[in-house]
Parts: sequence; C-alpha cells; structure tokens
Amino acid sequence: MNAATQPLETEVVIVGAGPVGLFAVFQCGMLKMRCHVIDALEAIGGQCAALYPEKPIYDIPAFPRIEGLELIERLEQQAAPFHPIYHLGQQVVAVSRLADDRFQVETSAGTTILCRAVILAAGAGAFGPNRPPLKGLEAYEGTSVFYMVRRREDFRGKRVVIAGGGDSAVDWAVSLAELAASVQVIHRRDKFRAAPDMVERMQALTEAGKLELVVPYQLSALEGEGGRLSAVIVADLDGQEKRLKADVLLPFFGLAAKLGPIAEWGLEIDKHLVRVDPTGCETNQPGIYAIGDLAQYPGKLKLILQGFSEAAMAAHHMYGRVFPGEALHFEHSTTKGLAL
Ligand code: FAD
Repeated sequence: MNAATQPLETEVVIVGAGPVGLFAVFQCGMLKMRCHVIDALEAIGGQCAALYPEKPIYDIPAFPRIEGLELIERLEQQAAPFHPIYHLGQQVVAVSRLADDRFQVETSAGTTILCRAVILAAGAGAFGPNRPPLKGLEAYEGTSVFYMVRRREDFRGKRVVIAGGGDSAVDWAVSLAELAASVQVIHRRDKFRAAPDMVERMQALTEAGKLELVVPYQLSALEGEGGRLSAVIVADLDGQEKRLKADVLLPFFGLAAKLGPIAEWGLEIDKHLVRVDPTGCETNQPGIYAIGDLAQYPGKLKLILQGFSEAAMAAHHMYGRVFPGEALHFEHSTTKGLAL
C-alpha cells in the first residue's frame, strides 16, 4: 500500500510522541481506541529523550528518581499492548475536517490518516536541530552528520568531531571517547556550559590524551564525497584554518521547537499555546484536543504528571465522538484489566 495515495484509517491520531503523547496511547487503548502517533523527530520521547535522556526526574509519581530516557522506555512498554503505529521523522502539516466530521491528517512525508479525533501532544511544536550554516551540509546529513546519538556503538572506531559547548557536546565527548578512534571537540570559547562534573571528566580525558579540545574554533567547511565526510575545516577567531580528519560530525547546537502549521488550524492560540476547556482538554475545534505542554487553561502547570492526567481526561471526553451512541461506563483498570 502506498502511504502517499492510500489514506490510513484509525480512531485517534496523536501528534507528538513525547511522554504525554505516549501516555495518551495507553489511555485511548484502555477505551478501545486505536492510535497512530506522529513525530517530527526520528525517535519517540519528546523533550525527555531529546533534551535530557540521562537527567534524573524526581516528580513522577511512584518513581522517586527516573532518568528521562527510562521514563520514555517505560511509557512505550505501557502503550505497546495497544499496538500504536508510529510515524517518525515526519511533521504533521495539515489537519482538516471532512464532511462526515472525521479528520484528515497529513504529514510532510505524504502520509494521510483519517480519524475520528485528533490529540495534539505537540509540546512547544515540532523539534528540529539548530543546523550550522555550512555549505553542502545536507549532502552529509544522516550519513556523516548527525544531530542526535541514537546508538553509541555506531561510532566505534570512527574519527568523531563534536561541535558545541553545552551538555550534549560534553556528555557525548566523554561517552564516545571510550570507543571512537578519536574525538575532537570544537567550541568557540574555552569555557563549556555543561554540568561541572562532566566538564571535569572531559578535561581529565583530554589530559590523558583520549580526547582533543579544539578551542576557540568554529566550524568553517566540510570535505568529503558522496555524503561521506573526510575532514572538517575549522577556523579560529582570526580566520586561521585547521583541517581535522573526520568520519563523523556531531553538531550539538540545541534543538529549536516551532509551533509551525499548528498555528494555522483555526485553534485558539495564546502565546504559542493552545487554549483548551480544562474539563476535557478539547480545543475550540470539536474533536481536536490539546494536552501536555501545548495545552493552556487557568491553573495549568507544565509538568509531565499534569499531562498524564490531561491524556486520561481527553480520552474519556472523546469516547462519544469516536463511538457515537455508545455509553461509556467508567471502570478502574483493576476491574477491567488491560482492555485488549
Ligand atoms: P514534548 O515532550 O515537548 O513532546 C512533543 C513532541 O511533539 C516533540 O517530540 C515534537 O517533535 C512533536 N511535534 C510537535 N509538533 C509536531 C508536528 N506538527 N508534527 C509532528 N511532531 C510534532 N517536567 C517534569 O514534570 N519534571 C521534571 O523534572 C522536568 N524536567 C525538565 C528538564 C528539562 C531540561 C526540560 C527541558 C524539561 C523538563 N520538564 C520536566 C518538562 C517536561 O519535559 C515537559 O513538560 C514534557 O516533555 C512535555 O511533554 P509533551 O509530551 O507535552 O511534549
């Protein structure tokens, strides 16, 4: 089946695979609503996975301490029995209401999904990396230039150049120094804005000859062929250039979130957030819900635990729309078990 021509069908489309979108899969699943989940990032997890995978979170109920990525793995596990279909690496570009009151959701990859309700769990909008302004960069993206590390092992034996001065640059420099052929860290200052203990570890590795700091330098150009990098050219503040042999460049200049197309779907937007009715998280467009960081109402706290509760409320609220004429009898999970 060709996704570009043949629309997919489901009960609910969830825009955003952050912690709140993932929990919405579970909540919808418990009410027998099947979900497709779309995220602009290549991996699930939203802010937890992309911004602080290894930082401990202390305010998730029943977890005195849990790291960002572990929370996501557990949420994925909790949602798995309901077989969500993930469409990753694609942005939702349009949501339109059809004559039969269903919705047509379209993505940047040409996927079209028809559904009865839409849940926007889109945080601050679609995430994308801040790209360095280098000529011909696109040709290397995905083959030699990566904005996120998914599997450390992919870098074993590679000559790695890391650019940036924040937590990601320092954390990955320390981590990859163990298995890469070489790690060079380029930063335009000699001070790093990262956790002090990690900066200390990076400096110790530098002194031990396991890592090289190339400071103060900035990225200047890339060399290579057919998407395979052979060198990264860097320049100091006087424009003096240096050529670093490299197989891989990891530019860590942060992620930028853009509300993007969501702002064009006729929703009531207040300071980049979507206003909802807090009794069920429905927006001013019946059948379109907003939960998690994106949702705004009086008393809103931008906390994961509040997003979880919003997911439950939205799922219950939309039931009558998804299954017209069917009454919803509230039951605890202990009574009904997993409603598979
Ligand atoms: P997000 O996690 O932002 O995920 C939204 C997803 O939607 C993103 O992956 C994005 O790519 C995707 N998306 C958006 N628009 C589109 C589109 N059009 N098409 C496709 N995909 C789209 N909260 C706590 O409760 N406790 C903490 O201790 C805590 N610590 C934090 C520490 C840091 C450093 C940061 C940055 C945040 C912290 N937070 C904490 C906040 C918490 O991470 C957020 O509240 C939470 O991630 C919100 O989840 P979400 O699912 O609503 O959105």
